Amino acid sequence: MKLTCPNCGTRSVEEFRYGEIPRVPDHITDPDARDLDRVFMKANAHGTTVEAWFHDFGCRRWFRLERDTRG
Ligand SMILES: [Zn+2]
Repeated sequence: MKLTCPNCGTRSVEEFRYGEIPRVPDHITDPDARDLDRVFMKANAHGTTVEAWFHDFGCRRWFRLERDTRG
């Protein structure tokens, strides 16, 4: 898989780190349940999603990337 950094261009995904803190639904109020949801309940969207990536082996900057998980 390749990602396009706005500063460096298209590079291998191995150069990047995914870093979005997952959002927990508001109806989960217990702190322990929120931690469990944050770790184990990935949204795994099917379609277009907006993600945050850090270019570890390039410009070393965070950027937002719109990605289609279907292809
Ligand atoms: Zn970069």
